Amino acid sequence: MITTKPYRVLLYYHYVSIDNPEEYAAKHLEFCKELGLKGRILVSHEGINGTVSGTVEQTEKYMSEMKKDPRFADMVYKIDEEEGHAFKKMKVRPKKELVTLRLEEDVNPLELTGKYLEPKEFFEQMQQEDTVILDARNDYEYDLGHFRGAIKPDIRNFRELPDWVRQNKEKLEGKKILTYCTGGVRCEKFSGWLLKEGFEDVGQLHGGIVTYGKDPEVQGELWDGQCYVFDERISVPVNQKEHVIVGRDYFSGEPCERYVNCANPECNQKILASEENEHKYLRSCSHECRVHPRNRYVAEHGISEEEWQERVKQLNEQPQQ
Ligand SMILES: [Zn+2]
Repeated sequence: MITTKPYRVLLYYHYVSIDNPEEYAAKHLEFCKELGLKGRILVSHEGINGTVSGTVEQTEKYMSEMKKDPRFADMVYKIDEEEGHAFKKMKVRPKKELVTLRLEEDVNPLELTGKYLEPKEFFEQMQQEDTVILDARNDYEYDLGHFRGAIKPDIRNFRELPDWVRQNKEKLEGKKILTYCTGGVRCEKFSGWLLKEGFEDVGQLHGGIVTYGKDPEVQGELWDGQCYVFDERISVPVNQKEHVIVGRDYFSGEPCERYVNCANPECNQKILASEENEHKYLRSCSHECRVHPRNRYVAEHGISEEEWQERVKQLNEQPQQ
């Protein structure tokens, strides 16, 4: 591999039984800190799921050390080259579930999961009749980018997905169902759950969107927008052939791929906004958030009480959302 940038971001998961997740997480945190990595790793009795950043040397060392543990010997890494770290800290957390679905009856992807489709197979299957593409991510991830024609479940959180499926059965029944997510970890479980729920033809994008974008043959084709990622980069490109912007500015509806968090710390909603509109609307999703006493935009910009009131008043005189 020819390396052009000094840092790397590794994205990976592996479903494997881990006996004592608390103990493993504590040891693993020490190990990662010693290496100088930064990132976020979840450890549960059902496996590991992480994103870490570090220099080429640090990340190489991490992967080679992990290979020595038989449990993680065949773990697959998606590697992005970057100019610096993608995290500020190193966190390893023990968790009850690797992905938060909170099913009444858990699904073990090692026993039951959808058919793995490689990027080329997924690309071809997407274009077949009687096929539905179901996005298995959160709404704000879909809004920034998704496969052309994919269904957006109207949910704020992954754990709401099973209920959504039950309420929207007619959209999926009798169809070939294709699911996808960022790196594949959510679909392992979700596609297994779909099979258990009685859907017969369920395929999942092996390696997720990130792998699809790097595939030399499909090169991310039929993906529109960007892929949301859970680190400081916020998004990564997928489609190498064309770039169709699907994100829309929360305030103006103009094409936009720039996420900011609502300045009301109690809201913190992700909103797509141009720099101009971020300032105009005090980076707040609503009037209520704009006048919230702990508004972070106001604090960051040292806006006086008087100016604050004036700017909010001006906005209220114009049509807005
Ligand atoms: Zn808000």
